[in-house]
Amino acid sequence: METNPNRCKRCGQCMSVCPVYQATFREADVARGKLALLDCAEAGAMTYSDRLKEILSRCLLCGACAQVCASSVDTTLMIQSGRRQLFEAEKGGKPQSALLRSLREGDLTAKVLLKGGALLQSLVCKKIPETSGLHLRFPLSFFIKRDAVPPIAWTPFLNDFRAEPAVKADSPRIGFFVGCGANYLFPGTAWALVRILKHLGATLVVPEDQVCCGLPAYVSGDTKTARRLAEQNIKVFESLELDAILTVCASCGSHLKALTSLFADNASSRDAAVSMTQKHADAMTFLLDQLGLEAHLKALEPGGTPNGTGPLRAAYHDPCHLRIGQGITQSPRRLLEATPGVQLVETSHPDRCCGHGGDFNLSHFSLSMKILDRRMEDFEKVKPDAIVTGCTGCLLQFSEGISRLGLADRVEVCHPLVLVEKAIAP
Ligand code: SF4
Ligand code: SF4
Repeated sequence: METNPNRCKRCGQCMSVCPVYQATFREADVARGKLALLDCAEAGAMTYSDRLKEILSRCLLCGACAQVCASSVDTTLMIQSGRRQLFEAEKGGKPQSALLRSLREGDLTAKVLLKGGALLQSLVCKKIPETSGLHLRFPLSFFIKRDAVPPIAWTPFLNDFRAEPAVKADSPRIGFFVGCGANYLFPGTAWALVRILKHLGATLVVPEDQVCCGLPAYVSGDTKTARRLAEQNIKVFESLELDAILTVCASCGSHLKALTSLFADNASSRDAAVSMTQKHADAMTFLLDQLGLEAHLKALEPGGTPNGTGPLRAAYHDPCHLRIGQGITQSPRRLLEATPGVQLVETSHPDRCCGHGGDFNLSHFSLSMKILDRRMEDFEKVKPDAIVTGCTGCLLQFSEGISRLGLADRVEVCHPLVLVEKAIAP
């Protein structure tokens, strides 16, 4: 990856938006501080050390700093490049399954055993391929710390899905890049998309041999693995003659959207990546803008409410990877407003980061919870029936958030498409 030619002018504008800095007020936690240290390392004034690695890991790669930077510094690219250099300086130490590492290191404590359900869930992780980013997220320590056990599906979506013949010969051919979060943790979101597309008469193509998008490998600095996964996905999807490739997870979507930057030094792979990127769309935007879902929902009988007891107050959260990564803020709101039986509720700071940030949630759990608690205060003020968002990382984080507040029985956490599906087929 190339580094950005623009240099940090130390103006401090990024301090006003950085969720990590706003939780710690440490200079090393904001982009300005990190870039200053990277400058020192580049100039040879300091070494690429474990301490620098720790500092660079204290970043959600949310992109908020790059968005406000008046000097147009691509801060996230630079932080990411620093992580890559550190990863390579460690002689490419292959990231092993965190679950297996925990087991080998004897991390099987009584506390884990007491959480029988969690242990069971963690063992289910063995069903997840080594290439999945979820292995970076679920060591046993992850299960010990959390209030809410991640809902790992007994049957992943890709194992369950069976292709059906096209409804109409001329219907659009829609590919579905499922992603690890929707496949293993929130298969209900994947099924919601399947049923909505079927309802709209589109032909759905879900290749079985798709793999993790590669984002977890990429953000940990392992560009080689990220490229390998991207090449596999490109190969799988390029032969299918699709009109579009949809994602339901903002994190996967933002990574697919930026796929070409992985192949800056390889023209043929870059061209293939461009083709995949051009076909990619977030499912919510595509359903509205290309398949007319909004009009369809508005024409539904008003009686079909998702919870059957009156309007469900749904508070929408803007995932960083959707708002900043893909520039999408209105599609989810349009969907919720058009869904019978759902009342869109706005919180203050709808764009405030939830603190998940992929493996940031794992390596800096306390800090991640501090950022989450701040966001949960916004939700508590509006007392929603559901917290609704378009990223499986945010869904996981808010599942933890409602559990910490003792609201798990009262507040649902789901993707907007799950509410749409309930309205279409109550
Ligand atoms: S906003 Fe940009 S130029 Fe200003 S301190 Fe942050 S990174 Fe540097
Ligand atoms: S990407 Fe987000 S978390 Fe990282 S330095 Fe920028 S604003 Fe802070």
